[in-house]
Amino acid sequence: KVDKEVKSVGKTIAIANQKGGVGKTTSSINLGASLATLGKKVLLVDIDPQGNTTSGIGINKADVENCIYDVLINEVHMKDAIVRTSIEGLSIVPATIQLAGAEIELVPTISREIRLKKAMQAIKNEYDYILIDCPPSLGILTINSLTAADSVLIPIQCEYYALEGLSQLLNTVRLVQKHLNTSLLIEGVLLTMLDARTNLGIQVIEEVKKYFQDKVYKTVIPRNVRLSEAPSHGQSIITYDPKSRGAEVYLDLAKEVVANVETVR
Ligand code: ADP
Ligand code: MG
Repeated sequence: KVDKEVKSVGKTIAIANQKGGVGKTTSSINLGASLATLGKKVLLVDIDPQGNTTSGIGINKADVENCIYDVLINEVHMKDAIVRTSIEGLSIVPATIQLAGAEIELVPTISREIRLKKAMQAIKNEYDYILIDCPPSLGILTINSLTAADSVLIPIQCEYYALEGLSQLLNTVRLVQKHLNTSLLIEGVLLTMLDARTNLGIQVIEEVKKYFQDKVYKTVIPRNVRLSEAPSHGQSIITYDPKSRGAEVYLDLAKEVVANVETVR
């Protein structure tokens, strides 16, 4: 068996949906940790002012020297904002509440939509995967993420109004494709928080598959208590409870994401 030396391309995936509570942050942390477990070099970029990915992976915000705000507004070099996590191969550019001001502060600035893309250029090739955890809005921070990304991963919660608001998101994706990032792709649609005890979840899966077809990941994330507990311990599911169903499914997802890249190549 020959082990090919594959050059890192820094495949950049924005994890986006303007709805809150659909599993963006949970998926950023746990897909990131799972990809690292598979031996990939991974960078998480937290661009949500709530900073849940930052605290959820065990970074104490009070200790953060430079956050993504400094990169976007104060022109701090991206590499000076990267910090390591306790997981081998997984680093993060943290977010703090400072970032809440960026949405307004960026409005009158030049090239406001391409700030993140520019900042990432110098570090992109040092990683296999870069995952950007977007805020629950379609504002300038999400636009920056979609502009910097190669593709967008859309988590959809398996609940009654699952498809509501998706046309707005897809419209934003189209606008970014037209004006800012012509090569932006839809990476995949991830169904989250499935409650297998109800028929509703199954109906939602059918509905989403009708709409997105083969873009929907085979891996469906079930509701799993361990997944909701892990962030309060500052841990991904991979370290918090590696034997849990949650860890199993996020590892499955990571394998699908990796296989995706290989077929595209
Ligand atoms: P978003 O980033 O889209 O706002 P989160 O990832 O923060 O969403 O998830 C919202 C809430 O649901 C959090 O409290 C999280 O712990 C919980 N959660 C997310 N995914 C699951 C899951 N598969 N099972 C149980 N709880 C989950
Ligand atoms: Mg979030």
